[in-house]
Amino acid sequence: MELEKLLYKYFGYQTFKTGQKEVISSLLEGNHTIAMLPTGTGKSLCYQLPGYCLDGQILIISPLLSLMQDQVEQLMKFGEKRVIALNSFLDSDKRGYVLRNLTKYKYIFVSPEMLGLPAIMKKLQDLTISLFVVDEAHCISQWGYDFRPDYSKLGDFRKKLGNPLTLALTATATKKVREDIIQSLDLEEYNKIESTIDRPNIAFYVEEIPNYQDKQSRLIELVLQLQKPGIIYFSSKKVAEQMASLLIEKGMKRTMAYHGGLEQEQRILIQQQFIHGQLDVICATSAFGMGVNKENIRFIIHYHMPMQIESYLQEIGRAGRDGETSIAILLYSPGDEQLPIQLAEGELPTQLQIDWLFSRLEQSEIPHGLFLEGNQYLREQGGFSEVQWRIILDLIKNAQGASTLDQLKQNITEFANERLKVKKDSIYFLKKWVKSNSCRRDLILDYFEEGAGKESIRNCCDICGFQLEHYQAHEVEQTNQMNEGMWKDYLANILLNRELS
Ligand code: ADP
Repeated sequence: MELEKLLYKYFGYQTFKTGQKEVISSLLEGNHTIAMLPTGTGKSLCYQLPGYCLDGQILIISPLLSLMQDQVEQLMKFGEKRVIALNSFLDSDKRGYVLRNLTKYKYIFVSPEMLGLPAIMKKLQDLTISLFVVDEAHCISQWGYDFRPDYSKLGDFRKKLGNPLTLALTATATKKVREDIIQSLDLEEYNKIESTIDRPNIAFYVEEIPNYQDKQSRLIELVLQLQKPGIIYFSSKKVAEQMASLLIEKGMKRTMAYHGGLEQEQRILIQQQFIHGQLDVICATSAFGMGVNKENIRFIIHYHMPMQIESYLQEIGRAGRDGETSIAILLYSPGDEQLPIQLAEGELPTQLQIDWLFSRLEQSEIPHGLFLEGNQYLREQGGFSEVQWRIILDLIKNAQGASTLDQLKQNITEFANERLKVKKDSIYFLKKWVKSNSCRRDLILDYFEEGAGKESIRNCCDICGFQLEHYQAHEVEQTNQMNEGMWKDYLANILLNRELS
């Protein structure tokens, strides 16, 4: 059957979005495929639709539980019931049932950690995997901003599954990262489908503001004026909360804060209210966005400097999905780069922590893997964050007891230093971008080694020149009242956060 007919039959869509048909055709012709398509272009359909053409199972490796859950729900909404997510959410009873009945499922989502479990791998080896999908494939690369040590084993897992047809999906990856993906998955021949990361309908605007106080007032002024709806991103839950309260105080009543500290139910409620037009402004941390498919977002403001251009592009890419003109604003105050630097440092173990840990390991007679696994006391004593601890455990597990303690310590130290350098370089690149006097779009396209193709862009960026007024609402802020229910939710939200902090 023609692909368009299948698209309509199973998903109800009339036409493919950019890149989808190319990726699907490439797979159906039997080619391994690496696809770089911007966020929101419907990457999931690239493995969902082939599921209806290929015999056997589609195995999707996904790095985040929330993302996986979202993808499962997306398929279920289309009426597909043969979907399962193998992750730590499954209790052992359900997991047992699922593993005994794995052939009943067409789409199997799995976390890389789960793939590493021999019992799971054995069950998967009994299946016919017709498509091996690596979602967020940039996590494979050490040069990627979101490297996951577990992802680096995917090449081995793929081999164990008999080198099935493979699709690697990512939204933003530099050339170096893309090369790493191919090498790591050991794809000898493959098709590459790359759509531009450029979003011509989104204008870039960077404003330097001398101090924090002025930044607050400027944010309020901008939000009052701009066409809505919009999202303001913060690196801190507390500041997101404070600014949401301040905006409400200033008359923008249809504003809400959203971050990972909120209860799941509240988060869903806020998302739904925003999607359905009951809220105009969301003061969010990076926790907001995944699964928010809203077409008409008119502005994205970054109040704090992001940690890397890749996540910045993903966040601003939530604007203007309807193709209408939209704006991405970054407010910068001198020294703003310190916060992302601190965050980056906090994600990696420090030399002091590594020295301390190894002095403890030297005294222990139990094998290091066992000694560390589940040792919360040691983790707390050494002041390791969850991320730092995961890195240590991963590196020690991967060394498989072959190394001496000294070698292991050196490996961990080198790893931490290298990762910190990659992260700091990304932050410095963003700072350079903020300070630059050249076209902001060109700089981004250069970074991703895409030729400049912006001739036809009218409102490009503040360097090329455009009118901010162009993005203003015709009537400045109608003080839309929240209904009683929304107020109740909002107050509950504030109270909950007081309890949390
Ligand atoms: P991405 O992973 O690229 O960010 P998703 O796969 O989550 O994007 O898809 C974004 C939205 O676009 C989803 O709501 C999806 O159902 C929708 N979508 C996907 N393909 C099409 C299409 N061909 N036409 C219209 N909508 C589509």
